Amino acid sequence: MATYRVKSIFGPTIQGEGLHQGWPCLFVRLAGCNAWDGRAETRATSACPYCDTDFRDGETLALPQILERLEALAPAQLHVGLVLSGGEPLLQADAALIAGLAAKFSWIDIETNGTRVCPPRPANVFISCSPKAIRGQGIVVTPDWWKILIPDQESFVPQALASGLPVFVQPTCPDAGPAGDIYQRNLLHCLELCFAHGCRLSTQLHKYVGVE
Ligand code: SF4
Repeated sequence: MATYRVKSIFGPTIQGEGLHQGWPCLFVRLAGCNAWDGRAETRATSACPYCDTDFRDGETLALPQILERLEALAPAQLHVGLVLSGGEPLLQADAALIAGLAAKFSWIDIETNGTRVCPPRPANVFISCSPKAIRGQGIVVTPDWWKILIPDQESFVPQALASGLPVFVQPTCPDAGPAGDIYQRNLLHCLELCFAHGCRLSTQLHKYVGVE
């Protein structure tokens, strides 16, 4: 049976980003990423110097163990949505994992950097692509919506708008979270993009309300 390196399984929380923002959900965070090795000393030179996620190490679990952990987290009525995140989840997520999770939830958001093809997925599985400029690795995924980090990945905005798909713009917060000066500046720039191009604002709602 296939196994997966899982960094954490947690919830209930709320989906703070994208089309399902505000919905209650559980999270599965798979370990590992192809944009950064996760070490503090290499962060500044990585493709994502603003990354705020610890995705190193993790434990090895099979699908039944993952489902068991999810069931233990919350009563069935809270099994509305699931976010499959990372790291880069499509380094590991195969069709069996995606289908097995999709059978238990109303919706699943796969949060990917877009550089890996997604296996065949059921209709209740959505792809949120936050494209990253990683040397030698183009964007190969076809998402349901884009989430562009501003200002760091702003160069992807024209291409995302041209796709006709929803385009969320999300300010990065490298200093003190949503209260920090840099965040406030980035937020204002996101608003400019919304007013100029019809982008949608994604604010990482979970950070405002103080949940993981
Ligand atoms: S792709 Fe996502 S998880 Fe990976 S380093 Fe960049 S921001 Fe972090």
